[in-house]
Amino acid sequence: MSRPATYYDASTPSLRAFPPLDGDVRADVCVVGAGFTGLGAALRLAERGLRVVVLEKGAAGSGASGRNGGQIHSGLRRDQFALEKAFGEKVARQLWDLGQAAIAHLDGCISRYDIQCGRKRGLIYADHRARFVPHTHAYAEHLRARYGYEGVAPIGRNALQALVKAPGYHGGMVDYGGGHLNPLAFVRGLAEAAAGLGVALHEQTEALRVEPGSPVRIHTPAGVVTADWLILAGDSLMKGLSADADARILPIASTVAVTEPLGARLDDYLATDMAVADSRFVVNYFRPTEDRRLLFGGGESYSTTPVRDPARLVHEALKRVFPDHAALRFDYAWSGVVGITQTRYPLVRRMDGNVLIAAGYSGQGVALAPFAGAVLAETVLGNSRDFELLSRLPVPAFPGGAALRQPLLVLAMLYYAARDRF
Ligand SMILES: Cc1cc2nc3c(=O)[nH]c(=O)nc-3n(C[C@H](O)[C@H](O)[C@H](O)COP(=O)(O)OP(=O)(O)OC[C@H]3O[C@@H](n4cnc5c(N)ncnc54)[C@H](O)[C@@H]3O)c2cc1C
Repeated sequence: MSRPATYYDASTPSLRAFPPLDGDVRADVCVVGAGFTGLGAALRLAERGLRVVVLEKGAAGSGASGRNGGQIHSGLRRDQFALEKAFGEKVARQLWDLGQAAIAHLDGCISRYDIQCGRKRGLIYADHRARFVPHTHAYAEHLRARYGYEGVAPIGRNALQALVKAPGYHGGMVDYGGGHLNPLAFVRGLAEAAAGLGVALHEQTEALRVEPGSPVRIHTPAGVVTADWLILAGDSLMKGLSADADARILPIASTVAVTEPLGARLDDYLATDMAVADSRFVVNYFRPTEDRRLLFGGGESYSTTPVRDPARLVHEALKRVFPDHAALRFDYAWSGVVGITQTRYPLVRRMDGNVLIAAGYSGQGVALAPFAGAVLAETVLGNSRDFELLSRLPVPAFPGGAALRQPLLVLAMLYYAARDRF
């Protein structure tokens, strides 16, 4: 099914096509999926001299990695208060350090391979309820005091309003370590870098079936890859290769739109280079693009298929943030599929002796996914310290089984989304 072009497709230099697999090949590691996770893994393995084959059923970056909001968050999807409560201070601290390592890894890839992806610093968390602000300020103080994280600062209503011209925000915090980038440019940069190091990338090549064993064999329409290790990096777009993963990751459609170029008018909405994410359960997030458009993500659609009218959905969300929205016209609107888990922790696991997976970043994969890919690669290379920590995070199967889990989730989501409005 052909998808509408995204702003990223229209504004990012194209990537050469990589040929489909034709014939049988041998590799040290076979990776399924050429998004952040798969390419993050492939790159690290190739840097260490391993023979890597990447199978991608579409084009590199055609999944969530090339069509997301581009927001870079510190830490995991659950905040440190929640992690401390769930796992105690020591493990929470280790997880915080991993989140920081993920951002350092992202920035390291950008600088090492000179990836031109418009990386900008600063992410504002904006509270849409006045009663949330004291908690957010306490959290910023907690990160500074307990974690020694200097990159975060509380922000009051007046200072926030000077940057974000949305009357419904009451305060929040700024994370100068987070930020944003053009995700398609980044994922294409990873693909180029991996290919440059000898990774055999095969686009338009679906992994159809895994024949377990040592070595493992991965069947595609026109050839078989025989490998010592298999890395599953298809996130929520991968179906049928691991029943276990299918039960734990739920695909949710999410929408993004980009306005026409606004020039100086952009300051009437967003007078900063930083990105913004708000406190709603169905998060609204927005940021400036390099050519001074407003990129806005939001809208609610709990379907697993591409959204029919993404512009309408995003517009509904935009109206709630910017009542003075009439002059904002979208040039692009699209949807993508986010892989979420029940606990919102990523699924990082050894599925079988030589089969590893990382997926389900629950809307926070820009920094986490490439790093998780590198963590899987390190596990193959014999250094599994970070893997051991991540693989202990609980990610149960969704209740309701394949037939009922989606309707049950829709009900839960609609309930929380309704609470956003009151
Ligand atoms: C609209 C939207 C907005 C988002 N906004 C943000 C954001 O602002 N910040 C943030 O941190 N995160 C965001 N995310 C989440 C983030 O994009 C993902 O967490 C991340 O891209 C996951 O990367 P991945 O490589 O694991 O998966 P993907 O990028 O989806 O890559 C998986 C690849 O595997 C391929 N594949 C699947 N099955 C097979 C098979 N059998 N054979 C061969 N290939 C296969 C797919 O074609 C795909 O290219 C957003 C996601 C969406 C959809």
